[in-house]
Amino acid sequence: MRGAVLYGPRDVRFEELEDPKIIEPTDAVIRMAATCVCGSDLWPYRGLQPINRPTPMGHEYCGFVEEVGSAVRSVKPGQFVVGSFATSDNTCPNCQYGYQSSCVRREFMTRAQAPWLRVPLADGTLVPTPGVPSTDLVPSLLTTSDVLGTGWFAADAANVKPGSTVVVVGDGAVGLLGVLSAKQMGAERIIAMSRHESRQKLAREFGATDIASERGDKGVAHIKELTTGIGADSALECVGTQESMLQAIQSTRPGGYVSYVGVPHGVELNGEQLFFTHVHLHGGPAPVRRYLPGLIALVLNGKINPGKVFDLVLPLDQVAEGYRAMDVRRAIKVLLQP
Ligand SMILES: [Zn+2]
Repeated sequence: MRGAVLYGPRDVRFEELEDPKIIEPTDAVIRMAATCVCGSDLWPYRGLQPINRPTPMGHEYCGFVEEVGSAVRSVKPGQFVVGSFATSDNTCPNCQYGYQSSCVRREFMTRAQAPWLRVPLADGTLVPTPGVPSTDLVPSLLTTSDVLGTGWFAADAANVKPGSTVVVVGDGAVGLLGVLSAKQMGAERIIAMSRHESRQKLAREFGATDIASERGDKGVAHIKELTTGIGADSALECVGTQESMLQAIQSTRPGGYVSYVGVPHGVELNGEQLFFTHVHLHGGPAPVRRYLPGLIALVLNGKINPGKVFDLVLPLDQVAEGYRAMDVRRAIKVLLQP
């Protein structure tokens, strides 16, 4: 098969890779229905997270089970499944505690920007849908694999509740789906920080009540102005830079909650400053597996349409163009069709 391989900064190639096969008895091999490019793929793509060898890319996936190992019990060939970007046994103490993305047997998925994929720990990682979903639901189901699961965790970890005032820092796909998640959790006021018109529009569609287009101190001042000088109950940090992290912390009221789900790059917090903000901090790689059954049900019941974040659809062999479009922010998120 052919799949996406990153060679270095802005050098993605679609080239021959070994066909995935069952290696461990707990593995499954799936045939991809759709995959996509993640905001986190842009860190190595931009050279901000250097790689030392050609690296097969992709960790968001859904599709049909083709083959399972002898120990797999919960999924079978022919089923449509979605899995997390982190594998999990779903039985260890960390999984039982709801942190499947810290499973003691965790592996981070890669090689998903390809037509076939080997998924380790299939029983604890994959969730089958009841029956085969209609093709128009595939984009939304694909989002549950990472981008929606991560936005949902952002809202959950920031303690969003009915009536909450929420600020979302970052207008990438995760931030936009953080808005959608906060809305689902009953937030009353959702302030999306965005400077891009098309993204502001989608944020409003997903439930944002206010838009703040300033950044840095001006951005914080605007949030304070919108929250009677106090700050938001919850802030979702969906970028991973020093600036976005400080913006989230400074926009939050004393006793409020800050979640952070953007992979931090160069973020350094000052202990004393943090001490006096009085905020709760909770973040990390989203335990997507915990949320998958509920999110899949919301999609299948037509309650949410997170697939709207895909504003560019390309055939898989044009994956390099997909990276380019996201790199220059010409696309919010790119869906790839095998
Ligand atoms: Zn586990």
